[in-house]
Order: sequence, then C-alpha cells, then structure tokens
Amino acid sequence: KMQELGNGTEEKILVLVRLRPLNEKEIAQNDVADWECINSTTILYRNSLQERSGLPTAYSFDRVFRGDCKTREVYDEEIKDIALSVVGGINSTIFAYGQTSSGKTYTMNGITEYTVADIYEYMKMHDERAFALKFSAMEIYNEVVRDLLSSDNNQLRLLDDPEKGMIIEKLTEETLRDWNHLKELLSICEAQRQIGETSLNEKSSRSHQILRLNFVDLAGSERASQAQSVGQRLKEGCHINRSLLTLGTVIRKLSKGRHGHVNYRDSKLTRILQPALGGNARTAIICTLNPSRSHVEQSRNTLLFASCAK
Ligand code: ADP
Ligand code: MG
Repeated sequence: KMQELGNGTEEKILVLVRLRPLNEKEIAQNDVADWECINSTTILYRNSLQERSGLPTAYSFDRVFRGDCKTREVYDEEIKDIALSVVGGINSTIFAYGQTSSGKTYTMNGITEYTVADIYEYMKMHDERAFALKFSAMEIYNEVVRDLLSSDNNQLRLLDDPEKGMIIEKLTEETLRDWNHLKELLSICEAQRQIGETSLNEKSSRSHQILRLNFVDLAGSERASQAQSVGQRLKEGCHINRSLLTLGTVIRKLSKGRHGHVNYRDSKLTRILQPALGGNARTAIICTLNPSRSHVEQSRNTLLFASCAK
C-alpha cells in the first residue's frame, strides 16, 4: 500500500462522521441515542417526537462509523492511507471536529498511536532511507501558541522565514526513539494541556525536506456557536471563534479545490496548518458525534460543518 502513494494536490477533503456510544451516565439518565448509521455513508436522525420538524433527517458523507466501531477500524479503513502518505512526501492533516465530550481526543489519540506504529514499521522496512521522526506538540489557546513539551508556559511566536516559510520559534522538537518514547511524550502533552483549543502536532523530517503530519484535536465546536458571557469567557470565546471560524472558511474554500486566495493568515491555527492544507497535502476531518437526544442541536451543527467541508 505504501508504495502506491498518490499525488495529494487534487485530493478533496475526506469527511468522516463517527458516532460514539452512549456512556453509562447518559444511560443512567435515560438519555436516548437518536442517531443511527443506515449504511456506510449515511447517518439518520430518528426521533418520532420530531418527525415533523421539517429539518433534514438523513446526512451523507464519505463514510460514517457506528457507535460500536473501534478506532482501529476508522484508522485502517479511512485514515491510514492519508496518514502514511507523509512518508511519500505529502503533508497530511487529520482533524477531529465536534462538541466537547463527543470523542475527539479519544479518536485522535488512537489514530496517533496507530500512525506512529505504522511509520516505525515503514522505517524498519526501508532502513536504506535515513528517517528521523520528530515530534512536537503545541496548544493554541486564546490565539496564544504554547509548547506542550516545555514546562515554562512560553508564548511561541510565528515567524515568516524567507526560506522555510512559516516557522514556530523555539518549538521543542523531540526525535522519537521508540514506541515508549511516544507514549511518554503524549502523556507530557496531556499534562500540559488546558481545557481549550488544542493542537497536537507531529513532524517527520528528512534532509532538506520537511514532511508534516498534523493531528489536530480542535476545541469543542460548541464554542463556535455559543453566545459567550462577559470578561475572560468573552475573550476566550472570541479567540476560539476566530480559529474555528477561520478554519471553517478555509476548509469550505479548500473543499471547492485548492485554488484562489485562502485566508490562512486570519488565525494562528490556520497559519500553522497552512503548509499542511494547501498545495501538496491530504486532509481528513473526523466529525465526532454524541448520539444522545439531549445534544441534537450541537450534533446538527457538527453535521452542518461536515457538509460544508464535503
Ligand atoms: P472530546 O475530546 O471530544 O471532548 P473525549 O474524547 O474526551 O471527547 O470523549 C469523552 C468520553 O467519551 C471519554 O471518556 C471517552 O473515553 C469516551 N469516548 C469517546 N468516544 C468513544 C468511543 N468511540 N467509544 C467509547 N468511548 C468513547
Ligand atoms: Mg478532548
């Protein structure tokens, strides 16, 4: 499979939807799962109380995954090809988009581990190539970029380098030693994280070529729509809005083909992701969905975003 890596330039964004199962707490509260995958591409909202609401009930995407699907299946069937195209020189980005508690981190953590395991496998099979797998992780919170591998809560600056393009000043880069090292770094990131907008980043570089694989665990999508209160919450809301809204605009443009002006510079998130989104790049968005009746409004918002990215 890895030998047949295609050219990423003309690729459309792959849009996936993943339901999670109801959890124990939701079951205990008699919440109901109203969303159902009726085949591999269509998800249906089935609620007899709302049948005459006039809202759409069926939504179709490249692929939808039922609540009982394992992350391994999502990875093997849809993500693996895109993620591993980095070893062929193509920038890859995998996003998780969805409301808080819908399964973004759960999904991205699994996918990150499977990808790194496969990249190691590839490196073992191709030891004639001098690979170095580098890992860095950052968080964007209130449009401030923080290094997740450094304990001094530095604010990293984004610089435009005439040769390298956008660089993130002083971002820690660890050369991955092995599998355990990855697990160790992921847990450092976890500890450094704030509840907010989170961006997990992994880079792989070889000689003059910088290949990039981005794992992006976005802020809860409810922050892009909810009216915020005063003070810190307002500031937070505006900034998170800016990154999520700009991402939405960028993705809508990219979904219509990677041509014309795209407003990457309007937020830190899109500026950092620009090399991985434009040009020689492959992108997948996994929209995670809480299946419960009580979250139907947020789920519809998520599916609306997913539809725009198609
Ligand atoms: P988010 O990052 O979107 O806020 P999380 O990934 O933290 O959400 O998921 C919320 C909770 O649901 C966690 O306890 C997680 O383990 C669980 N969960 C999420 N997705 C799944 C899934 N597909 N299968 C089983 N449990 C899941
Ligand atoms: Mg999360």
